[in-house]
Amino acid sequence: MHDPARRRGVNGHRFETRAAHAGREGLRALGVHAPPIDLSSTYPLEDLAQATQSVDSMAKGGEPVGSPIYARMHNPTVARFEEALAELEGAEASVAFGSGMAAFAAALLAARLARPDAGAGHVVAVRPLYGGSDHLLASGLLGLEASFVSPDGVKSAIRPDTVLVVAETPGNPTLDLVDLDDLVRQAGTLPVLIDSTFATPVLQRPLRHGVSLVLHSATKFLGGHGDVIAGAVAASQAWVARLRQVRIATGALLHPLAAYLLHRSLPTLPLRVRAAQAGARLIAERLAGHPAVSHVLYPGFGGSDPRGLVGPGRQMEGPGSVLSFEIVGGLEAASRVMKAVRLTTPAVSLGSADTLLQHPAGLTHRIVAEDARERTGISPSLLRLSVGIEDPEDIWADLEQALAQAGTHANAKAMAEIVSV
Ligand SMILES: *Cc1c(COP(=O)(O)O)cnc(C)c1O
Repeated sequence: MHDPARRRGVNGHRFETRAAHAGREGLRALGVHAPPIDLSSTYPLEDLAQATQSVDSMAKGGEPVGSPIYARMHNPTVARFEEALAELEGAEASVAFGSGMAAFAAALLAARLARPDAGAGHVVAVRPLYGGSDHLLASGLLGLEASFVSPDGVKSAIRPDTVLVVAETPGNPTLDLVDLDDLVRQAGTLPVLIDSTFATPVLQRPLRHGVSLVLHSATKFLGGHGDVIAGAVAASQAWVARLRQVRIATGALLHPLAAYLLHRSLPTLPLRVRAAQAGARLIAERLAGHPAVSHVLYPGFGGSDPRGLVGPGRQMEGPGSVLSFEIVGGLEAASRVMKAVRLTTPAVSLGSADTLLQHPAGLTHRIVAEDARERTGISPSLLRLSVGIEDPEDIWADLEQALAQAGTHANAKAMAEIVSV
């Protein structure tokens, strides 16, 4: 963010300006200021020959020729959001889906589509991943085999039928960072998919590092207000064509009303991400000094960023606003803290304007194999906090009173043990 040239898009504007304007081309000519919402499921056709041409174009993953024909093939409101996200990621295009998981499933299928020689296909995945993504790969539901590795084990896990390398950075829920340059080097000629949900394009643009596909659970920061489930993948035109083909075939659409809400959230994305990030730093520091907390996982602390990937001009411009911490007293203390928060909502998800607290081992990562959970540090005492844009002093006051409950309990237990001796 400190090199002004780096922040400029193809049209010369800086990131914040593009966030406010992207995907809004042509509105003035339409005589409107807000993007229109097109709810049509089908479109009247003027001319069969041209309509057939449009079908042919979209079946190959291209744009409609004139009419969108049918809303499973194309929707103009969704297309405006897709254009805007592509602009922010520095991608040629993007494809939106009905959820982050639908986007991930489509990316896996697109990777198979790209490699008809690879049979059922194989994926190399760096753990930790979001619980649902881990499960989709581990279950073999899509017919793909998966090898789970640590970031330095990618190269040796690649097989002749490997179609994709998958990683998250920061990783959910331990905030593990993956060095993108190193990952792309290890992958060689194979495409790399990065789930960049935690970072958003405000803090990280994986395509710059040679990554092929950038995935977002748009449910999180892109939506930002806890009222939309959505996903998107930003990539080259060739990948986008495959992703659209998969979307048409599987029907994993984003509804135009949801696309409108996502698009409306983008102008404030940089403001929300930076405000939440500033609050998270204060919360992380205070948590680290609290007696009920044994460990804080936060990319802004050197211990969580041994390779120096976070900072101005680095892979990730700042540490973001999600952090996790280990509570003294294990599962019982964790559940007491979740029960005791008042301002903070005890709920899964993240990236909302308000603060959310959840328990990965019991909720978002419940579906991950237990040994994998343990190996990747998703312990029963781990809590994940998505810091919102409230005044951080109010967030801290709430957490402090909740942590006091956990402390009371831990002390009571210790006292009981002492008394029983
Ligand atoms: C939530 C999440 C997903 C799944 O997205 P949905 O929109 O819930 O389907 C994928 N990756 C990460 C990192 C997430 O946090």
